[in-house]
Amino acid sequence: MHIFAIANQKGGVGKTTTAVNLAAALAAKGQRTLLVDLDPQGNATMGSGIDKRALEKSVYHLLVGLAGMTEARITCEAKYDVLPANRDLAGAEVEMVELERREMRLKEALAAHAADYDFVLIDCPPSLSMLTLNGLCAAHGVIIPMQCEYYALEGLSDLVNTIKKVHANLNRDLKIIGLLRVMFDSRATLGHQVSAELEQHFGDKVFRTIVPRNVRLAEAPSYGIPGVLYDKSAKGAQAYLAFASEMVERVQTM
Ligand code: ADP
Ligand code: MG
Repeated sequence: MHIFAIANQKGGVGKTTTAVNLAAALAAKGQRTLLVDLDPQGNATMGSGIDKRALEKSVYHLLVGLAGMTEARITCEAKYDVLPANRDLAGAEVEMVELERREMRLKEALAAHAADYDFVLIDCPPSLSMLTLNGLCAAHGVIIPMQCEYYALEGLSDLVNTIKKVHANLNRDLKIIGLLRVMFDSRATLGHQVSAELEQHFGDKVFRTIVPRNVRLAEAPSYGIPGVLYDKSAKGAQAYLAFASEMVERVQTM
């Protein structure tokens, strides 16, 4: 079981789109996949076609010890499992203060189900909070989606420092798997410049796959279907399918 956190403390950079579409693409390739929604907004849950308002048990219950994995997870239509989230999760942060080893709650919950999955993807919230910390402590690696814009690199150093601290103090396994260029506009000169800069700085930590800006990916969530199934032939869907292949390749060398 390979566990990856999809993280970037900035909002709107494509974390959830990446989490949902990578999960669907991996499942389509026959990989047993679990998507963990760690954002109280529940966008990954809704984007997987699961109604966040109708949950009996969610990842919140799992984290605070009110439910086990088998009660909380749901198999979605795209054939991957989801540990869903909704606003309940916003309270978890406060409630977890009382708990021992509170940053390890997700890790421990997943450990009992290591045999169930090939891939676990964790969609982190846009913050470096206790929830994100749970994601980083549970993960073997971090996938960082980013837009190739001028300020993208600025926020990156905070995230890289956090990952270093977690690696040093809490999770020896943690490493950056790669930076994924998303919402790429091939007509923008700046995008190409930032993209080249990323490759220069981070070398093979930059994924080969580039996800273009593609309206079909943005439309899909309103139908509760991952983009890779909503319009399989669209450029965005094709990119996430290619990214899934790249990830399958990557884990073979890990
Ligand atoms: P985050 O989870 O980091 O906040 P999202 O995945 O929710 O980011 O993406 C933010 C917005 O951008 C959403 O409206 C989403 O549909 C849109 N979006 C994400 N990736 C793409 C893309 N490749 N092309 C077009 N729109 C995208
Ligand atoms: Mg999100």
